[in-house]
Amino acid sequence: MSGIASVFSILAFIGFSASMAVHLAGYAGIDRLFGVNPWPLHVGIFVVWFPAVLAAMQLSKDFPQKDIWKASLRGNPKWIQYSVYGLFCYAFLNFLVFFINGGGKNEVSTVKGFSGHWLIFYFAAFAILRSYVNVSHNDTVRRCKNKHVVEPNHVYCPQCGEIVGSQY
Ligand SMILES: [Zn+2]
Repeated sequence: MSGIASVFSILAFIGFSASMAVHLAGYAGIDRLFGVNPWPLHVGIFVVWFPAVLAAMQLSKDFPQKDIWKASLRGNPKWIQYSVYGLFCYAFLNFLVFFINGGGKNEVSTVKGFSGHWLIFYFAAFAILRSYVNVSHNDTVRRCKNKHVVEPNHVYCPQCGEIVGSQY
């Protein structure tokens, strides 16, 4: 399973890089970078999100609902987790600007408006799939000194009170 996740994580990263190129071109007023139609990227999201959702379900199954994102991204270094949150805010602001400016007045503004979302969808899929690969390679479930399983948001073991430090 982690081999398949690895392949999809590479696809997601390629999708993210292509989306970034398309998005930056939008700032330069270019709607078709190198004459290539960018809209297949919109469809490509579904290709990487299906395995990403399956991976997220596996990663978060032992955690409470509110920690679903933390749990899904737990196999990544912190900078990847912060990048996901940062891109999420950026995509939201980008779409807000798109909306305030009256939406898709022309192809450039439409592509720029949508490609902000492609960035976060591809990057989040990449991050979840990488997390899945890393977690399956090295079990990152935390335990206290007395071997109780401790949730990611707990600083103290809920069973024996042993300090385990904060993971996030
Ligand atoms: Zn304990």
